[in-house]
Amino acid sequence: MPTAIEFFKLLPKTNCKDCGQPTCLAFAMLLSNQKASIEDCPHVQQEAKETLAEASAPPVKTVKVGNITMGGETVLYRHERRFDNPIAYAISISDNIGEDAIKERVAHVKSLSFDRIGMIFKVDLISVKCASSDPNTYADAVKLICSEWEDGIILETDNTDCIKAAMEICKDRLPLIYGADDGNVDALVPLAKEYGCALGLICKDMDNAVDLVKKGESLGYSNFILDLSPKNINECLERHTIARRAAIKKKFKPLGYPLMNRVGYGEYAVSTAVISTLKYGSLVIFDDLKSYEALPLFTLRQNIYTDPQVPIQVKQDLYPIGNPDEHSPIMFTTNFSLTYFTVRADIEKSKIPVWLQIVNTEGLSVLTAYSAGKFEPERIVEAFEESGVLNKTDGPVIIPGLVTRMSGKLQEMINRKVIVGTNESRDIPKHLREITSE
Ligand code: SF4
Repeated sequence: MPTAIEFFKLLPKTNCKDCGQPTCLAFAMLLSNQKASIEDCPHVQQEAKETLAEASAPPVKTVKVGNITMGGETVLYRHERRFDNPIAYAISISDNIGEDAIKERVAHVKSLSFDRIGMIFKVDLISVKCASSDPNTYADAVKLICSEWEDGIILETDNTDCIKAAMEICKDRLPLIYGADDGNVDALVPLAKEYGCALGLICKDMDNAVDLVKKGESLGYSNFILDLSPKNINECLERHTIARRAAIKKKFKPLGYPLMNRVGYGEYAVSTAVISTLKYGSLVIFDDLKSYEALPLFTLRQNIYTDPQVPIQVKQDLYPIGNPDEHSPIMFTTNFSLTYFTVRADIEKSKIPVWLQIVNTEGLSVLTAYSAGKFEPERIVEAFEESGVLNKTDGPVIIPGLVTRMSGKLQEMINRKVIVGTNESRDIPKHLREITSE
C-alpha cells in the first residue's frame, strides 16, 4: 500500500474540501489507511486515478464466489491491521448418488450451523462433484441442490459440457469453477470469462502455479483461486506462506491470488483445514465434516478473522428473558459480547423474567465504557426510549453495581425506582430472587 505522501503527490493539492477532509494531505492519509476511496475526490485526473487505483489495489486479488469475498488481503500478520475476508468452507456432494441421497447430504450440510455468542457459524458452499461425466445428470444434481440450498455453489469438474449445462441453472449464483490444470486451462479460462466466474487452478507446485496464472492472464482473465496441491500439512504451510509472502512483501503478482485446498475427509483433512485457516487459505473443500470437527474449526476461523482492535459486540436492543411482563424488572448492561452473554446466562439461572436492555458502548465492558464516557445516564435513557422498555413494565430498574454512582441521576431522568445491582454477574441470581421476593 502506498504511503500517504505517495498518494498526496497524485492529488490536486487545492485543499478545496470537497472530499469532506480539510486538506488533500488529510485525505491522502485516509487513503493510505484504506479509510477513504479515491472516488471521494471529484477532482483527480483520470490518469492519476488509474495510477492510484492500481497502487492501492490489495496485493492479494479480491475474488467473488457467490456472495463470498475471498482474498483482498493486505497484511501478512493479523496484528498489523486485520485479515478482511474469512476463509470459506465447502462440502462436496457427488452428482451420481441419487435424489434422496443428495437431499440427505444437503440437509447434513445445513445441520452444521451453530449459534455462538450471537453469530451463526456455518458451511458456506456446496461443491457439486461431477462423478457421472454426464451433462444431464450433473445439471439435474445442480438443480436439485440449488432448490434445497440458498448459498454458494462450486462446480467441481473439468468437463466443459457439464459446466455449460450446470451454468444454465446456477450462473446467477456466480459459482466457482474448480478443475483447471495444465491440460485444460485453455478451454476453461474462456468459459469462466464468459460467465464472469472465478476459476480454481489446480497447480502441481509453485512454478506450475505461476505458469498457469500467466497462461490465464494471457487469455485476458485474472479471476483465479490457486490450489497449490500440498501433499501434507507441512507442504501446505510452506506453500501458502511462500505464496503470501511473495505477494505481499515482493509484490509478485502471479502468486497474488486467494489460495484453496481440496481435502478429503478425516484427520488429515481437518489438519490441513486448520493450517489453511491459520495461514492464508481462502477456501477449503471437504468430502465431509462432522459437527465435532466443524465447531472447533469455525471457532478458529472466527478468532483469526475478527478485528483485533474491535471487541465483539451485540446489537443495542431490548432482550426479554423468560417471558417478562408489565411488572418485571429492567436490567441493563453494555454491548460487549462477553458481558452480554455472561449477564444473560446468570439472569436465566435465576429463573426470574427480566427485560434486559443492551446499550451500545462500542463493545466496551461496563467499567471501561463508564470511564470512557460511553455508559452515561443520557446514553442509557436514549436506549430505553428507543426500545420503549419503560412503557412495557412498571418494574424497577436494576443498575450494574460497578456504576452505582450514576443511580441518582438516572432515577431523576426516568422517574422510576432504581435499585443498585451486584458488582459481579455471578451474584445476579441471588440478588434477583431477593428483590423479587420483597
Ligand atoms: Fe484535495 Fe480532492 Fe479533497 Fe479537494 S476533494 S481537498 S482536491 S483531495
